[in-house]
Amino acid sequence: MEKQRMPDGGPLRRIVIVGGGTAGWMAAAPLGQLLGGGDHAASCEIVLVESPEIGTVGVGEATLPTIRYYNNSLKLDNAEFIRKTQASFKLGIEFKDWGHLGNRFFHGFGEFGPSILNRSSVSHWLRVHGQAGGMGYEDLSTATVMALRNRFVPPDGDVASAANAYSFAFHFDAGLYAAFLRDYAMARGVKREEGTIVDVSLRPGDGFVTAVTLADGRRIEGDLFIDCSGFRALLIEGVCKAGYHDWSHWLPCDSAQAVPCARVEPLTPYTTSTARSAGWQWRIPLQHRTGNGHVYCSGYTSDEEAGQVLMRNLDGAAQADPRQLRFKTGMRRKAWDRNVVAIGLSSGFLEPLESTSIQLIMDGIGRLIELLPDRRCDAQLAAEYNRRMTRQYESIRDFIVLHYKLTTRDDSEFWRYCAAMPIPDDLTHQIEIFRRSGRVAILDPDSFAEPSWVSLFLGLGLWPERHDPLLAQIDEQVLRGHFAQLRTAIAKTVDAMPDHGAFINRHAKAP
Ligand code: FAD
Repeated sequence: MEKQRMPDGGPLRRIVIVGGGTAGWMAAAPLGQLLGGGDHAASCEIVLVESPEIGTVGVGEATLPTIRYYNNSLKLDNAEFIRKTQASFKLGIEFKDWGHLGNRFFHGFGEFGPSILNRSSVSHWLRVHGQAGGMGYEDLSTATVMALRNRFVPPDGDVASAANAYSFAFHFDAGLYAAFLRDYAMARGVKREEGTIVDVSLRPGDGFVTAVTLADGRRIEGDLFIDCSGFRALLIEGVCKAGYHDWSHWLPCDSAQAVPCARVEPLTPYTTSTARSAGWQWRIPLQHRTGNGHVYCSGYTSDEEAGQVLMRNLDGAAQADPRQLRFKTGMRRKAWDRNVVAIGLSSGFLEPLESTSIQLIMDGIGRLIELLPDRRCDAQLAAEYNRRMTRQYESIRDFIVLHYKLTTRDDSEFWRYCAAMPIPDDLTHQIEIFRRSGRVAILDPDSFAEPSWVSLFLGLGLWPERHDPLLAQIDEQVLRGHFAQLRTAIAKTVDAMPDHGAFINRHAKAP
């Protein structure tokens, strides 16, 4: 057999990022910080190509708390970031009408109080209060109590108390965030090329990408190509034909319309997701406007009707006509193929119900940096990257499917389909274990943690039939007293916090 010619090993000489949306600039910033513009042996040239004719997707405004680790790793100034991206704080998501019409619950960031004897606080709460109610378990989540009262201060890193056990993320203007990161990356040596890629050159034999050619004839060579070309998936699908796992039978929404509207008071520190008859609507509060969108399934409603539902349910004056978007839920069979790594929408899409796309971008970049290849672009590194991304995508997918599956809504064909649809085996197992014994069995370290699963199970009305027998170690009366004290401590702490809008004005506005 003829031996394939491989390039020499040794550090990469040039990385080419294809696309300048959120994914492209989120990739460029840490690569510029680590590898760009320096004269150390590992430094290399980083070039980002973006097309003025092909715009960005222009949505993607809500995040998860890990965005702070990404920002911190770049050493971004928090106040400057909040100012430049018109950001607000996010303590979680309020869900309305999901389990049934009139159902309302909150998925807050953080715990329901500290664990007791190695068991979660909320599992003890369930034992003593059960389905019958009494004190609401959401009163034990500091993030939820803060959110519903529009309060915000960051947790105090020096204080270890039950009422301090919350986390937060941001809402921001995606276009402004990309521009902010562009300035950061270019200041660290990343070069930007404007133009539309019309041709891709491949190495004979192994089909590795060697260069992209722009419409004006410019040719950009590279050793590693990061495909951030959005839904077009220019390299990973257009060239590598990596294939796609289609998950639309589990997540049938395939369309969205998005529209900004004028900001109203108060500036809420949370996203709202309201179920509609063939999908759901988001509301994301920013400093300068409110972002809104309707995610829906085109098989169960028309674009026209979906647009009307969206526009009827804005709480401020619309600032534009709704923008139409289409997608197919799923993920690329291989996000890393040969010397092409897809990050962002080119790697797959899960609807924005839990704001996971930017998280997947961050994790994609983090893993690429951990597994950074040399010029040979070892297939084993690619296999490891693909293994980790697949595991994470599937775990997030199951968490999102759960929102639909547990509904008892039967007021539309869409919801009847969701309630009856078959679901992935792991998710069936996860639901059944919680239903029978109150345990959350499957926890992926890169996906949602136990309190998130519990928020969804209880919020959607799935209460455990039995409890962990070890919970009985603690006397019920003692526990009731403990929870009453915890609730009072959280309420008192939140009472002393400033209003969310006032906090932003005081701490993040121009000096
Ligand atoms: P894009 O923004 O589409 O950028 C693609 C880039 O590739 C552009 O710069 C374009 O010019 C370039 N390009 C394409 N073809 C060529 C070519 N031939 N030559 C040169 N350049 C080219 N995520 C969240 O985390 N939170 C949310 O709340 C959220 N809401 C969403 C709502 C909806 C309806 C949708 C569809 C997505 C949402 N997302 C959300 C996902 C989020 O918007 C994306 O993950 C994020 O914007 C990244 O997009 P991207 O950079 O991959 O692609």
